[in-house]
Amino acid sequence: MKIFLSKPHMSGQEEIYVKEAFESNYIAPLGPHLDAFEKKVSTYIGQDFYCVGLSSGTSALHLALIVAGVERDDEVWVSSMTFAGGVFPIKYIGAVPRFFDLNPKTWCIDENILKEELKKASNENRLPKAIIPTDLYGQSVELNSLEAIAKEYEVTLIVDSAESLGAEYLNGRKAGSGGDVAILSFNGNKIITTSGGGMLVTKNKSWADKARFLSTQARDKALHYEHSNVGYNYRLSNISAAIGLGQMSVLDDRVKTRRDIFNNYYNKLNNEAINFMPEPDGYKSTRWLTALTIDAQKTNVSHLDIIKMLEKHKIESRPLWKPMHLQPIFDGIPYHGSGFDESIFNSGLCLPSSSDLTKDEQQEIINLILEVF
Ligand SMILES: *Cc1c(COP(=O)(O)O)cnc(C)c1O
Repeated sequence: MKIFLSKPHMSGQEEIYVKEAFESNYIAPLGPHLDAFEKKVSTYIGQDFYCVGLSSGTSALHLALIVAGVERDDEVWVSSMTFAGGVFPIKYIGAVPRFFDLNPKTWCIDENILKEELKKASNENRLPKAIIPTDLYGQSVELNSLEAIAKEYEVTLIVDSAESLGAEYLNGRKAGSGGDVAILSFNGNKIITTSGGGMLVTKNKSWADKARFLSTQARDKALHYEHSNVGYNYRLSNISAAIGLGQMSVLDDRVKTRRDIFNNYYNKLNNEAINFMPEPDGYKSTRWLTALTIDAQKTNVSHLDIIKMLEKHKIESRPLWKPMHLQPIFDGIPYHGSGFDESIFNSGLCLPSSSDLTKDEQQEIINLILEVF
């Protein structure tokens, strides 16, 4: 590949922090850079938050479910259109997922369907233990209504903000501040990266403390190794955190660049057969990936034609996330919705959106797509 969908973009600052970590020999899953990284993210999201650095977004979600008290056979309701790492942890616990469609106005979980189903479930005494809405492609979910419904039915709200660090919901509220607990990912393809990593974000100090404890093998306070819980080896390494510290210094730049990339695609490709992912008034998406759909009624070019054509030019693009209710591993799991997510999966793609994509590279992609039309 010559042009990737989304790749790491270092600022130069990362190496300085990593060198510092080497010189002080903090080549361990704990250390000053990890503390500083957690503090930096927490300051960014909002002062009242506790942040726990973990080895991935997936492990962060696993621990979020555990600290929220989700247990075997509990139901967890989740956006169907998401990345598998945002759903698999439900299975790690032996809990049972139930999938939900998106709202066409936000491309995030449809809060109206959720509300209706919660009402029914409440009447039948089978409420879920938790709900996991995903901030899709860098756009915050409809937090006000989701937080209100979760409170009304006393269901834990776990927001999957793996793709949205740097995004804002209404009135400048940062993505990652939502729900009872949120998770972030610093995987190599995300908006900023620690090479691999994740974070659990919550205002609940005892949940944060418990996540920290469980992520380092659940060692009770004793001189010898004493365990009264099952633990995990999920802590973020101090070296990775050093990379993250450097990346945090350019987060807002990265968001701005990805939004500029989106706007450039939009301005040059917007036509009646192409629909871009919407951004509701007052929201600020990171535009982690530029996502769009092709209207088959209005053109004979399909999203797959574009993906294959770009691939021939060594340019990576991808279909949208395949909804989880269509995945073989989740065959037979209930799904609620009208299939909006299926329809955008069957017509949509993500275009290269790396923050270091050059103007010339982007123009080449745009020209190639215009030629197809
Ligand atoms: C990337 C991602 C995850 C998982 O994060 P990892 O750090 O790769 O484990 C979870 N949910 C969503 C929506 C993601 O995009």
